[in-house]
Parts: sequence; C-alpha cells; structure tokens
Amino acid sequence: MENDDINVYGFEHLKKDGHIVHGVFTRAGGTSRGAFDSLNIGMDSGDEPTAISNNRKLIIRKMGMKPLVFLNQVHGDTIKVLKKDDNDLSQIFEPGKETYTADGIITNMKGVFLVIQVADCQSVMLYDPDKKVIANIHSGWRGSVANIIGKCVDKMVLEFGCRSEEILAGISPSLGPCCAEFINYKDEIPEHLWQYKQNNKNFFDFWAMSQDQLMEKGVKKENIQNMKICTKCNSDVFYSYRGEKTTGRFACVISMV
Ligand SMILES: [Zn+2]
Repeated sequence: MENDDINVYGFEHLKKDGHIVHGVFTRAGGTSRGAFDSLNIGMDSGDEPTAISNNRKLIIRKMGMKPLVFLNQVHGDTIKVLKKDDNDLSQIFEPGKETYTADGIITNMKGVFLVIQVADCQSVMLYDPDKKVIANIHSGWRGSVANIIGKCVDKMVLEFGCRSEEILAGISPSLGPCCAEFINYKDEIPEHLWQYKQNNKNFFDFWAMSQDQLMEKGVKKENIQNMKICTKCNSDVFYSYRGEKTTGRFACVISMV
C-alpha cells in the first residue's frame, strides 16, 4: 500500500505542544475508488469494507502504529470517558471496530488516538495542557443544537478537574457559513440559535456557534483555532456530504504522547 500522497493538516497551537500528535486527513492517499476516492474511513458510507479497513490501517501507520479509537457516531450528545484505569482497552484497538456509540470522547491516557470521522460536520479537538486531558467531538448541526461542545467541556471539568481557561480548541474543516443553508431552519434549529443566521438568507454560521459554545464555558478566544476551510467549497480535498451526497468520511485524530 502506498501512502506517500497522504496529507495531514494541523492546528498551530497543538503543533507547538510537544505532547500532542494530531492530524486532519484529507481524502488523498487512500485505496477507495469512485465517489469514495480515496482515504475514506466511514463504515456507513456505502464504500467497500476492505477499502475502508485498508484506509484505516494507512492512517494507523501514518500515526505511528498506535491504537486508534473509532466511534459509532450517531449525531447525539453522548460523550465517552476513557480513563487510565479502564480495563477494557484490549477491546478497542481493532481498526475495523467501533467500540463505543458516542459523538465525543475524552481521555487522560497517553498513546491512544481518538478519531472523529466527518464530511461537513465539525471535529472539535480539545486539549488541557495542565491536566493532560484530550477530547475529540463530532458536532454537526444536531450536535450544535444539542451543544455537545459545551457538554464536553463540562465533562472534562467534572471528570478530570480541567480548567476551561487552560483548554486549547481546534475546529476542523467543515461546512462553512457560505454553504450551511437550512431552508427549514424554523423546524430544525431552535430560536435562540437564529442569531447565527446570516442577514436575510437561510445560511447559518456554525463556526461562530461553536466558538461561542466554547467561550460560554470559559475557553479563551485566543485558544480557539478554526481552520475555516469549508468542506463543500473544497470537496476536491475533503469529503462533503452536502456537496456530493454519496461520499466518504475523512479522519480527524488527536493523541497525547
Ligand atoms: Zn462553502
């Protein structure tokens, strides 16, 4: 298997920290064909299971052959907490397996890679460099409505004693305000979030919403980085559900070393 074409994007503040290994993978460098071309990791995408499994192995290899934890993501607000003393770790490290049904995961374990798979939704990576705790969140519009981001910060505070003012946050490529049109927003999005609607159009700024959800919990604005890459506008580089309907999922991965 060839993986020279694999591109990985990163957040500057996380790159600077010597304890974090992370990456946002593009669709390049994998083995899937057609609409899934090529580094698709989404088991529910309709792609060939063998290709998906091979792509996941390519990502594991690129990340240094460490265990990766994939989630069965359901657009809910369940957050899995993986603690050092958990004894079921031998179960979670199979590349073809999604051990936990959850849309967020938090850990204080080193050497475990938390994976979120997306195509328009956001992966929001969190890191408390003081308490040495990381999280990865899947937040699409349903996640935004449920405020899974705020709930994850709360859980980091509750379970690990994190302080939100220490937390660094990164928002992956995702559907931008240019393309997040919600014609039926009155049915789908609660009224208190209509302030994120752009002018008189039905386009919403979920990037601003996520930043506000972080800041409402005390995360500092200067500690939040958003790549501000719209997946639909850049569907040649990233998978976009809105742009392509039949498409793959790209990988957003974070780990402490
Ligand atoms: Zn766009």
